[in-house]
Amino acid sequence: MKRVGAHVSSSGGVENSPLNAEKIHAKAFAFFTKNQKQWNAKPLSSKNIDDFLRNCEDNGFIPDYILPHDSYLINLGNPEKDGLIRSRDAFIDEINRCSQLGLKYLNFHPGNHKKMISEDECLDLISESLNLALDVTKGVTLVIENTAGQGTSLGYRFEHLAHIINKTEDKSRIGVCIDTCHTFASGYDLRTFETYSETMNKFERIVGFKYLKGMHLNDSKVKLGSHVDRHHSLGQGELGLDPFKFIMSDPRIDEIPMILETIDSSIWEKEIELLYSYKEV
Ligand SMILES: [Zn+2]
Ligand SMILES: [Zn+2]
Repeated sequence: MKRVGAHVSSSGGVENSPLNAEKIHAKAFAFFTKNQKQWNAKPLSSKNIDDFLRNCEDNGFIPDYILPHDSYLINLGNPEKDGLIRSRDAFIDEINRCSQLGLKYLNFHPGNHKKMISEDECLDLISESLNLALDVTKGVTLVIENTAGQGTSLGYRFEHLAHIINKTEDKSRIGVCIDTCHTFASGYDLRTFETYSETMNKFERIVGFKYLKGMHLNDSKVKLGSHVDRHHSLGQGELGLDPFKFIMSDPRIDEIPMILETIDSSIWEKEIELLYSYKEV
């Protein structure tokens, strides 16, 4: 079955995120385990952890349907040494926070080369960061998100995701998340059944659905291949509603968190309802 939800607020404490997800009748959710715009965070208290676990259990959210997102500051392919070390430390801290919350996934953006090294060198650096992090943590699967390719960010080709996976030693703890807005903005069309099938078949060939651990469901404010990351509410952007109908009836996409990161949180509940109305298409 499809598990649709949204990236909900965890303000006031991580324990509020499952409550916010339940309010919009979500069957999955994403959240930040700390302020995403700051490097440092207070450690989670045992009360945070206990309340989070109880609120998840009371509302039927199991770790398979929860996709925490890491901080936007982290750059695992940072060509500058100080920034790289800081990013790796912060990333390991994020993995440990997920472990403490009993979670099994951590969603992250691959990294930026800042025009200082080649794309391949940056992808190698990202893989090295993942191997280091996997060595000193356990239990959590690291979920690479494809990107729009804005600025110097990598992950805008399925080949980038495959490159990172290939160089990651423990493949049992690596996965990917497809963001529909990023996919479209990076040049893969999804608007007709033919283009949707072509894009998803390409994904299967280059990466493989076995690595798909989550999806982000967003419309795009910008045109195909524009390499700009601007989300829009479903049906209000360049993608339109058809891609979401194809996704909701795609049997390869099941039992994974499908997360809205659309711009108007006041209509998330309606968007979730709309997506479930496509189930039988
Ligand atoms: Zn993201
Ligand atoms: Zn996303």
